[in-house]
Amino acid sequence: MSGRVIGIDLGTLNSCVAAVENGRAVILSEDQRTTVPSCVAFKGDKELVGAGAKRYAVTNPENTVIAVKRVLGHPFDSDEVRAAAAVARYPIVSGPQGGVVLRVAGHELTPIDVSARVLAAVRELAEKALGEPATTAVISVPAHFNDLQRKSTKLAAEQAGIDVLRLINEPTAAAFAYGYKKGRDFMLAVYDLGGGTFDVTVMRARGDTFEVLATDGDSYLGGEDFDSAIAEWLKQEFERQHDSQIDGDDTALLRLKEAAEKAKVELAEVDSTRIELPYLAQLPDGGHIDFSTTLTREKATELVQPLIQRTLDLCSRCIDAAAVAPCELDDVLMVGGQSRMAAVQEGVADLFGCEPRRDINPDEVVAQGAALYAYSITADSLRASAEDAADDALGVALKQTDVARKLLDGVDERLDRTLGDESLQTLLDELLEATGHDDMAELTADPDADLPERAKKVREELLQLDYKMSELTEKVDSDSPDGLEAALQQISDQLSAAHSSSDRADGFLDEADQHASARKVELQDVTSLPLGIGTVGDALSILIDQNTPVPVEHRRMFTTNEDNQEEVEINVYQGRSRDASQNQLLGSFTLWGIGRAPRLTPKIEVAFVVDEDGILSVSASDAASGAEQSIRVRDPLGVQATQSQRRSRSKF
Ligand code: ADP
Ligand code: MG
Repeated sequence: MSGRVIGIDLGTLNSCVAAVENGRAVILSEDQRTTVPSCVAFKGDKELVGAGAKRYAVTNPENTVIAVKRVLGHPFDSDEVRAAAAVARYPIVSGPQGGVVLRVAGHELTPIDVSARVLAAVRELAEKALGEPATTAVISVPAHFNDLQRKSTKLAAEQAGIDVLRLINEPTAAAFAYGYKKGRDFMLAVYDLGGGTFDVTVMRARGDTFEVLATDGDSYLGGEDFDSAIAEWLKQEFERQHDSQIDGDDTALLRLKEAAEKAKVELAEVDSTRIELPYLAQLPDGGHIDFSTTLTREKATELVQPLIQRTLDLCSRCIDAAAVAPCELDDVLMVGGQSRMAAVQEGVADLFGCEPRRDINPDEVVAQGAALYAYSITADSLRASAEDAADDALGVALKQTDVARKLLDGVDERLDRTLGDESLQTLLDELLEATGHDDMAELTADPDADLPERAKKVREELLQLDYKMSELTEKVDSDSPDGLEAALQQISDQLSAAHSSSDRADGFLDEADQHASARKVELQDVTSLPLGIGTVGDALSILIDQNTPVPVEHRRMFTTNEDNQEEVEINVYQGRSRDASQNQLLGSFTLWGIGRAPRLTPKIEVAFVVDEDGILSVSASDAASGAEQSIRVRDPLGVQATQSQRRSRSKF
């Protein structure tokens, strides 16, 4: 770990980064902007990321990638990718491993490539703001991200030169930020509705243990869908007003979507808003049609009500799973830009029977939580490094003090005898020469004493030497040998160096103290989706259920169906459908090299391990012999490109 550990909220539309300074999570910003649009654009041979890319998107949608998180970790053949391809202004084609490739401005990019560019920009911003490298991060992901989406996020980070210390679920990060400073027990729900995803989480804090009781959500439900619902109404309004179709007109549809989003945000402040879109449609005769209409807050609410209801249904399911009553909750946190909508807040207030918190910043709290968590898990090692640095600085300070003392003593002693200029210089040279050797510098303080004790000794010693120095300086008079002043200057330099090393050590010690007093919180999260294998009749046999605390390990015995069968194929799925194939296929693995035996006799134990990042790895062994079984993994997106097949334990 080098440099500062940062917390990154990699959002669908906006990303945000924070770091802990003096025990507080601080949002790292540039030009006063606290979020970075998750947007990548190509302008000629220039690549733009963030605010510049977003500005460029308005006029060049075909060269700009927005909301790539909606397709990250999804196979080409999926509803999510079809939905994204329907609105994208550039071709989305099938990638080599069944994944997705975006053809933008002559580039072929995977969603991982695009996310990596956003992460790299965020990292750069952080490094600029901190003035030091920031190559290690805790990155937040929607609680509902499946294994492939999580792995894709990690690969993107890797590509951006970021070492992922941990992935943290977004609502968990928000809850962490809320609870970290609190220091008392609480029960909390987090409602997180961003641009593309919805999560709800119920968390309990007892002492220094934060425990997620349940989580639920939809990784394809967010503000973008609210915009689409309103845009659809605008389209119908247009068609009704003008008796003209605009279905095939991409530019017009995009303008409607933008107008819908703008109106939606405006309606947070006002009861009704006017939408004016001049030149919206072209007529075959070369003429054009302007479009204008009024959207009231009431109408907008009605249009998005089914979406709000979907989030509320997921909330009900989540509090049921957590086995808590809404009245047991101390607070409900609203996170994500879309949670600002009044109708959303009202729905949440009704369901939970309390007013949600409005005093947290829904755009920043996730990054703050990620940073605080990063700090909480690294504080001990930060303390150790600060102590090491203090130790080193003290070592240097001790040596410099020692040298200064020896020089002072030597000069003092010789001054009592009358010496010529030359012999004074010779003396100094001799002393300096001797102090250059390590063994000459006997450390005056006991190296076993603790650091603060040693630091104190050095300070005391320096004080004495300062005193002695001033005494010597006073002795200088016209009779003093010529070289004395220069010699004293040399000693004074040595003393200053010792002082500054001692000050540096004190600084590191203060830092170590601060890290030592950081609150260390144990965070216990849960799985957000069931994990299972496909069995006969396309049934999903669940191995690890939703809301199981992680990390978790589950073992299952497999055998053969036929005599002398040497291979068994196992398909691993993640999702809530009882039909295995309706879920996300995470990977298929084949156990091979099974000893020839009659059917049903081999006993192969397969272990599924979900780590703290919510990522699965699989290992297998022959239960009878204890021998490791071999596994061949086929992963649907090639997100394992960097984790080539390993025998016996494979991540997929
Ligand atoms: P993400 O974290 O997924 O990138 P954000 O949390 O930044 O997303 O939320 C972005 C969404 O919030 C967008 O759909 C945006 O239109 C919506 N949004 C932002 N402000 C408001 C507001 N005042 N009223 C309604 N929606 C808003
Ligand atoms: Mg977000």
